[in-house]
Amino acid sequence: MNDAYSNSPICALYRERTPGSARLAREAREVMPGGITHDSRYMRPHGVFVERARGSRKWDVDGNEYVDYFGGHGALLLGHGRPEVVEAAGAALALGTQFGASHALEVRWARLVRDLVPSAERVRFTASGTEATHLALRLARAWSGRRLLVRLRSHFHGWHDHVASGGGPAGSVPAGVLPEIAAGTLLLPPGDVGALRDAFTAHGRDIAAVIVEPTGASFGRVPLRPDFLRALREETSRAGAALIFDEVITGFRVAPGGAQSVYGITPDLTTLAKVLAGGLPGGAVAGRADILERLDADAAESAGFEKIQHYGTFNANPVSAAAGIAALEIIRAEPACERANAFAAELRARLNAELAAAGVPWAVYGAFSGFQIFLNPNRRALDPRAFDPHAVAPDELKTNPPALVDKLRMALLANGVDIGGWPGGLTSAAHADDDLDHTVAAFRRAVGMLKAEAEA
Ligand code: PLP
Repeated sequence: MNDAYSNSPICALYRERTPGSARLAREAREVMPGGITHDSRYMRPHGVFVERARGSRKWDVDGNEYVDYFGGHGALLLGHGRPEVVEAAGAALALGTQFGASHALEVRWARLVRDLVPSAERVRFTASGTEATHLALRLARAWSGRRLLVRLRSHFHGWHDHVASGGGPAGSVPAGVLPEIAAGTLLLPPGDVGALRDAFTAHGRDIAAVIVEPTGASFGRVPLRPDFLRALREETSRAGAALIFDEVITGFRVAPGGAQSVYGITPDLTTLAKVLAGGLPGGAVAGRADILERLDADAAESAGFEKIQHYGTFNANPVSAAAGIAALEIIRAEPACERANAFAAELRARLNAELAAAGVPWAVYGAFSGFQIFLNPNRRALDPRAFDPHAVAPDELKTNPPALVDKLRMALLANGVDIGGWPGGLTSAAHADDDLDHTVAAFRRAVGMLKAEAEA
């Protein structure tokens, strides 16, 4: 471990508080690469190992309590263990986890999706968000008969080969991905209407689909203006390409009908996961009936097209379906999205007030139920309360010195708050006033500790 960690009082305090997690992290490394099962759970010197969670809080194996802003990678709009969801999943579990057959719950679940999401004429369930974007692209290519996919640089759509390129230097192909698959993607700068129009002028007849995170890369880390989405809708409609909104994280979170309902722009296909399944595994592609029809054996036979293949042992399993139905019914009936959004707005304002008071030139920004911490890698002069992420280049918004992020996270963990490593977090309808006060005080102390180490 380098000096940034070994000589750090923050790191020493964190280690002292988390001996059980340190031991498990050592054991984990012996059986799992890097000791983790999801790249964004990686942190140095080790992450916390969590034992249980409830509402807005979670507890690690050393008995430390945290206000949780990791939010189950965005799945937990209702917080941990919302009783109605737990009860519904438990009741389904007792009846069987896998029938190898259709069941009534999947029909109810699909109807709820159709009722809530404007673009959802038909729904096909998958087991994850990655599978949903994979299926959406296959559908778009089969339906359009075209090969090219347009993506925006730094937008995240899961980890399958068709969406893996673009994280590294321009033109690079990620390890393990076939160059010809990467070559099937046109990567555009996010938010650049001119580049978008040029791409359609040059390649319009080959473009099968454009896929986009509608609130911007990584839930608004690099925000996107709705005008750009409108231009996307225009260009795709004109060219006969499918517009895919990847609402895996925004769906049922920014509003019950997702970002498309907020912006009044209806895509051809929508990918969903996370909140969709109430905190259990699950995903879906929803969208136009004439595109999803490509999955329908009867339609394929009568219209004479080749049906596309789609399998998945745990698609719409009854436990996920039951949890998803319970969660979506709550989201339809209660102002859960509004509560999470309002909490995040208050949190962003209070954290920026702390930064301003401490004279630290970072900023907390974001929209809806997200908050993003900008660590100002180029040391711009800035007022945290007037920060405009649209005025900063996407690469700069995404650049973070790794050791600084780890120290910020450790300092917050040592003060009872868990955030994600982007760095930032997601709020839920379960976060309440005491979480806000606790978080603001923890942030003040954490920033003080970082200043003492000359990191802030
Ligand atoms: N698309 C977006 C916008 C996401 O945020 C994610 C996950 O973070 C995915 C796709 C992949 O979903 P999953 O992790 O369920 O495979």
